[in-house]
This record gives sequence, C-alpha cells and structure tokens, in this order.
Amino acid sequence: MLAAVASYLDAKAVNGQWLLRIEDVDRHRTVRGATEAICRSLEAHGLFWDGEIVAQTDRDARYEAALQKLAEADRIFYCNCTRKKLRAEAGPYAGHCRSRRRCNYQPATPDAPASHAIRFDTSGLASPVFHDRILGQQQLDLQALGDFIVRRRDSLFAYQLAVVVDDAEQGITDIVRGADLLESTPWQIVLQRVLGYSTPRYAHLPLLVHAKDGAKLSKQTGATTLHDQQASANLLRALAQLGQVLPPGNGPAVKQGGLPAPAQILAFATQHWDCSKIPRQPINSNEHPQNAH
Ligand SMILES: [Zn+2]
Repeated sequence: MLAAVASYLDAKAVNGQWLLRIEDVDRHRTVRGATEAICRSLEAHGLFWDGEIVAQTDRDARYEAALQKLAEADRIFYCNCTRKKLRAEAGPYAGHCRSRRRCNYQPATPDAPASHAIRFDTSGLASPVFHDRILGQQQLDLQALGDFIVRRRDSLFAYQLAVVVDDAEQGITDIVRGADLLESTPWQIVLQRVLGYSTPRYAHLPLLVHAKDGAKLSKQTGATTLHDQQASANLLRALAQLGQVLPPGNGPAVKQGGLPAPAQILAFATQHWDCSKIPRQPINSNEHPQNAH
C-alpha cells in the first residue's frame, strides 16, 4: 500500500503516468484471482493506473532475447549446484560454476527441471554507484551480493531479469519501491548496462515494522489485509507514514465516514507531495495521522 501510494503521488506530482504491472513471473506462486483483488483494492483507494495492465506471463520471447544478449556479452554461465550444497555455504554464491560457459543444457520439461540454472557472472564488475532519492548515494558491494540467477531450473526467468526487461520496454523513468528491494538494485543496474538500457531513478521507501520487536511486516507476521471500506483512513495513514502534509480533515464536498473521500485526499497529497520528507528509517506500523480529524 505504501509503495502504491508513494509511487502514484510521485508520478502524478509531475504529471507523469503511473503504470500497473503484475509481476507474475513466478507462475507457481501466482494465486488465481489475486490480480483482480489488487486492482479492486487500488480502485477503491482512488489509485487509478494509466494505460493497460502489463503482465509478465507471455513475455518469454523477450526475456529469452535478453538472455541471448547476456550470452553474447559472455556474462552468463550454467550452474548445477544443488540447493543442499548452496544452503550449506554461508554468504553469497561462491562462483563454483563460473567456468561452465557452454554445456549440454537440457531445458525443463513438464516432468523434470532443466539440467542447470543460468547465472549472471558478476566477476570483474565494479559495484555500481547510484543516487537514491530517499537514501542518498548508494554503493552496495556487488561481489558480496554474488552471481545471481537469471533463469531458474524450472525454466522460469528470474525476477531480476524480467523486471529489468519490462522497465526498459515500458520506458520507466522512476522506480519507487520498498527498501527490501534495495539489494536487488545493483544487480538490476549491471543487467541494464550489459543489455544497453538506461538506468531509471530509484527511490526506496522505508519498511514498515512492528512496534514491539522491529520485525518487518509481512503476511506471515500478521500484516493485516487492507479494508477497502476504510480507504480514506488507509490513505491518511500512508501519508502520515510517508511524512507528508495531511489534508485538512474538514475538506469540502463528499465525505466518507467523516473523512475526505479518497479522490480528495489524493488530489491534495499530489499537490503537496515532497519526496524529501519521506523518512529514511523503518516506520512503526502503528503510526497514525496526528492531525486528521
Ligand atoms: Zn553452481
């Protein structure tokens, strides 16, 4: 929710387009009906996207072409390390299979996984420096992050590759997302460079954490499902968490349970959007708007 509100306002504040992409590259985990539920919830909150929804299924040919480019640049290798072996090692992938540039690769079949996963070789590459609009200059150690998978043994293209190809194809200029993806950014930047894409601007939002133990909120740790009937309250809470100016509680026109309607809240928030006010530290999930009545 926080990422949806922040990215929406960030785009609308400069009259930009806000695109909705369903990142369903992991088909095994895509829950049927989940897309519809997300769309309904966004609409209930007044978060209307521009253009068509893009899905990552049916885009294998584009990802395949990108993989081919990586092969031509001699940046990929075939890895048949077992999960057990990798689990036994602490830290990033240690580059065991880097010398395996060509092999008798057997693609996945309905009954069996592929003979190898395909990894991106980070060796010899400098850690990319990038300016995060919230966190400032970032340089994460690429070697410490290690060689990452671009195609999995179950033949699915990895998130890192899919997202970079889709961003480039959609002409994305700005990415606003949670700080849990900060460590993916150096991988995505090196992919962009090898594939000849430009690098978008990044803004990584603080994570929501539990008031008590500081653990990250997730479905597993009891993040509550948003109630679309409380759209206005949800939006105001998100704005407060993002450090933004809140609209006056007694706004004119339509009211929803005593609060301004979602459209009014978003119109006000778009006008007053200030990325520099977003906190850098994790946000307490119990934080509530102080001056909304
Ligand atoms: Zn390996």
